[in-house]
Amino acid sequence: MRIILLIFSVLALTFSATAQQQKPKNIIVFIADGGGYNQMICTDYYLKGSYPTSPLAKFPIQLAMSTYNGSLRNYGATCYNSRAFWTNFSYGMAGFTESAASGTALATGIKTDNDVIGLDMQGQPVSNLVEVAKAKGKRAGIVTTVPFSHATPAAFCSHTPTRRNMTIIARQMIFSNQLDVIAGVGNPWFDNAGNRIAKGVFKNIDSITFQYLLFNRRSPWFFTESRDEVQKICTGASSPNKLFYLAPVAMTLSQMRPDTSVIPFDIPINPALSTLAEMSVAAVNVLDNDSSGFFLMIEGGAIDWANHNNELPRLIEEYTSFYNAIDSVVAFLAQTEQLDETLIIVTSDHECGYLWGPETDGNKFTTPLNNGKGNMPSAVYYSTNHSNALIPFFAMGPASDIFYSYADETDSVRGAYLTNSEVAQAVKMLWGNTASIFEADPLNNDNPVLSVALPCQQAKVQWFANGKPIESANEIQFSIQTTVYSPDTRFSCQITCGTTQFFTSEYSYQYE
Ligand SMILES: [Zn+2]
Repeated sequence: MRIILLIFSVLALTFSATAQQQKPKNIIVFIADGGGYNQMICTDYYLKGSYPTSPLAKFPIQLAMSTYNGSLRNYGATCYNSRAFWTNFSYGMAGFTESAASGTALATGIKTDNDVIGLDMQGQPVSNLVEVAKAKGKRAGIVTTVPFSHATPAAFCSHTPTRRNMTIIARQMIFSNQLDVIAGVGNPWFDNAGNRIAKGVFKNIDSITFQYLLFNRRSPWFFTESRDEVQKICTGASSPNKLFYLAPVAMTLSQMRPDTSVIPFDIPINPALSTLAEMSVAAVNVLDNDSSGFFLMIEGGAIDWANHNNELPRLIEEYTSFYNAIDSVVAFLAQTEQLDETLIIVTSDHECGYLWGPETDGNKFTTPLNNGKGNMPSAVYYSTNHSNALIPFFAMGPASDIFYSYADETDSVRGAYLTNSEVAQAVKMLWGNTASIFEADPLNNDNPVLSVALPCQQAKVQWFANGKPIESANEIQFSIQTTVYSPDTRFSCQITCGTTQFFTSEYSYQYE
């Protein structure tokens, strides 16, 4: 352990020095939720007849990544063992992470329990990459093909003990003043086919917050359900300051549309909905309104769901839309002369479906068989759940070689690999860390509770009101007594990590 720590600190010094010249102005993280090597192989075989042929084949940094979580709770695994994996077929299925824990690791640099959003193993909030970007005066956004308050986007911008708190997550996203773009699905008034329904389903967002987005004139959000509007934003014909696109559909852009697909794209996709590529380019075009740079997370969220259902045709559809989004964003950045200043990371949060070639068993692993372009490859799902398999990791752009220093473990098949928590650790190395105030329970208006996302574990906390320390307010959470503090009180927090001090920006609680 001591040797590992020593190497890490030496590398940290080396890279903080070299990163000086080439810190990225913008960072985009693409996440194929539930995507793995064999899912990419199948997609490439179907689309082009050979592998690797996706937009990722051209990325200069190609590594693998482990995804195990921080604990053995909820079927978790606390390590990845290369030898055990490749000699025992069931090893990879025995313990696995899920999107909350892996998203938290990717977004904060801290591994945690399954189901937990933005908190460490002790339940303390940890700062995420959206908060890091905002502390640097940058803009930030999230884009997904599944409900916007689902686990992966949630992990990048919110903090709550369980991913099931979707209405709390939605409020943190909408009211915390951290995000400038939200684009996704989870529309309460539509079904999975995109048909209007008679009674709203307020599972992903509560009805009061939805009313606020639709009708409140003080809302800073440009809220739209229109594909035309998104396309106008892509071309620059319209450019709102803060964009919220909620596609008129329930759970996914296309993966959960009715009927079963035999081959990809055999069942038409609802043309009223923006594609992931359109949402992503619109997001970049809104975020780059400001010259200080941005952070953007783009998720192919239904890749995971197609894998859970063992639907290979729809898996290939979802990966195709993910590839299209990468291609479109790279082309847009090149066209607007932003590609050289943007670090692009493409990875997954975990594999799902344990997809292999036919006759995989014991210590014999086969890859999917190529049946030529336009023909379904031969591949078998060996599970309906996640696995502990290594997943692919790609990066390009300024400072992308920082990931070589983290990829200090080697797999006998996949080669050098890093672990998921090292993505945010690398970004924090490049952009710095931060402490940030958020509302712990934004659905509770009678007893508002502020909390602070910490830049380190074992932090010391001091709360301030209007710049003055509040005596004995040293806990992570601070309950605002509304009889003592007027609505315009500016709260802030001083966080001490060892000898380093962090100050949050001021936060005024919004009384509605
Ligand atoms: Zn899943």
